[in-house]
Amino acid sequence: MSYTILTGDRATGPLHLGHFVGSLRQRVELQHQHNQTVMVADLQGLTDNGNNPQKISANVLNVVADYLAVGIDPHKTTICLQSALPALAELTMYYLNLVSVARLERNPTVKNEIAEKDFARSLPAGFLIYPVSQAADITAFGATHVPVGEDQLPMLEQTNEIVRRFNHIVGQPILTECQPLLSNVGRLPGLDGQGKMSKSRGNAIPLGAGADEVHKAVMSMFTDPGHLNVSDPGRVEGNMVFTYLDAFCEDAALVAELKAHYRRGGLGDVKIKRLLEDCLQSLLEPIRTRRAEFIADKGELTRILQHGTRRAHQVSQQTLQQVKMALGLDFFSLE
Ligand code: ATP
Ligand code: MG
Repeated sequence: MSYTILTGDRATGPLHLGHFVGSLRQRVELQHQHNQTVMVADLQGLTDNGNNPQKISANVLNVVADYLAVGIDPHKTTICLQSALPALAELTMYYLNLVSVARLERNPTVKNEIAEKDFARSLPAGFLIYPVSQAADITAFGATHVPVGEDQLPMLEQTNEIVRRFNHIVGQPILTECQPLLSNVGRLPGLDGQGKMSKSRGNAIPLGAGADEVHKAVMSMFTDPGHLNVSDPGRVEGNMVFTYLDAFCEDAALVAELKAHYRRGGLGDVKIKRLLEDCLQSLLEPIRTRRAEFIADKGELTRILQHGTRRAHQVSQQTLQQVKMALGLDFFSLE
């Protein structure tokens, strides 16, 4: 069975290892059987960077280069740019009337992010309503499945509420409800060990990181603070090196063996760090090379993005047209 899939990434910085395990790896697999659209979410990036549009514009092509470098194939996946698709902004305007401010303020994901970012009274209206703009993105493409982490489930609930409300009001099943495709890996923690790896927190290993940067990042990773001598028994839980080995080392039997050895005592931190570094270097080396090639040809990156966006434009305009017809607001077109 073929799904219609939508995912995206905010253009707030180059993508990192968290994106790789949390979604990019899965997208490369999904593109073979499913109808997949991947969106560079520059508008969503602006919702908490309104004063710094240059940060967003400077990262759009970086994100496209990251997609291509990990193996997202523009012949199989529609890669598109959010701000170039007017239907998404228009759908957002219609959907905003179907959601209360109280409901938006209760959205647990947004609530957490607002608290974390410390907006206080200066919370941008655009940030509060970004779940509605996500609902527009998802429904514009008729997505049946949205790959997400667990913390994003409230977003899909909010989308489905809008879908049901809209369909009920117009009395026709115009919009499609979506389901999550939960990734089997949790959030990858950041290098500071303080919550998830994130572009905005400066705790990430970007996919284009140089070999030196990878080496330094691994060597300075937290292990078990109680594991002072090699012979001491060590803790594996909460030990970043093992968390990363679980995520990136393909030899699960070897990792299990090393965990047992570490727990017994007699296995040094440097040994496990070397293994992790080998895994990361061999993963990132080809990605880095391909990424550098793509970044060197901005014209080609722009053409690829434009091509995908053109396809996305057709699909999203069709949805907008259906929504306007269902609302009785399709008096004429200026095209
Ligand atoms: P920002 O800090 O600007 O919000 P970010 O690093 O959180 O950036 P997003 O663009 O918000 O990245 O994330 C896009 C998607 O990437 C998320 O929905 C999630 O699926 C995945 N993702 C991001 N960070 C991680 C992580 N540390 N571990 C697993 N998945 C992640
Ligand atoms: Mg984020």
